[in-house]
Amino acid sequence: MKRIGLTGGIGSGKSTVAEMLAERGAVIIDADAISRELMEPGSDVLNETVRSFGSAILTADGRLDRAALASVIFENEAKRKELNSIVHPAVRSEAERQAATAQADPGFSGVLIEDIPLLVETGQAQRFDGVVVVETALAERLRRLVDQRGMNRADALARIQAQASDQERREIATWLVDNSHSLEETRRQVETVYGQILEMQDTVKHISLR
Ligand code: ATP
Repeated sequence: MKRIGLTGGIGSGKSTVAEMLAERGAVIIDADAISRELMEPGSDVLNETVRSFGSAILTADGRLDRAALASVIFENEAKRKELNSIVHPAVRSEAERQAATAQADPGFSGVLIEDIPLLVETGQAQRFDGVVVVETALAERLRRLVDQRGMNRADALARIQAQASDQERREIATWLVDNSHSLEETRRQVETVYGQILEMQDTVKHISLR
């Protein structure tokens, strides 16, 4: 099995590239989707988060108020770390469960991709056989976040600036996919990357460690 990390800044096109990799046959583990599921009402992770952050991070009907939580951690580094220490281990253990399920499938392509928005910020690059970094020119990223996501331009810029820089992501990249242009151009790059992943030496270290 090849275990590959996929990352990129907000609005760079990670999900778009993940879908293209899935079309080729990769199994995708989506860290964002897992963390959303882990925050469902009644879950241990949500309960622990409320114990640390107070009920101000809940909506009237007891669901996680993502905007309220985001504004707390956006301004407070210690709180951001505290949230990470609650959510991160739970996400990792669910990701491991999904990886084991993928491996047990007789039709498994052997390529597992973990889509992790904060891969650089959380220092996880070393545990992968390779990392795909998706990069999009700043002006184009802003345009997509504003036009297609309906974000306010200043908020979008502040979010971008709070994350790792393009340079920091490049430093851990095995492959760099430039998604500044058409989807066709991105798809061509993804096909090349997927071909190279398939050609990599198979590693058994992740299997033998468990
Ligand atoms: P986030 O970090 O916010 O989850 P992301 O990195 O997963 O974002 P996507 O959701 O894949 O990014 O892309 C952001 C937006 O840009 C989406 O609306 C997507 O449809 C659009 N998009 C992605 N790639 C392209 C492209 N090459 N051309 C035009 N639009 C694109």
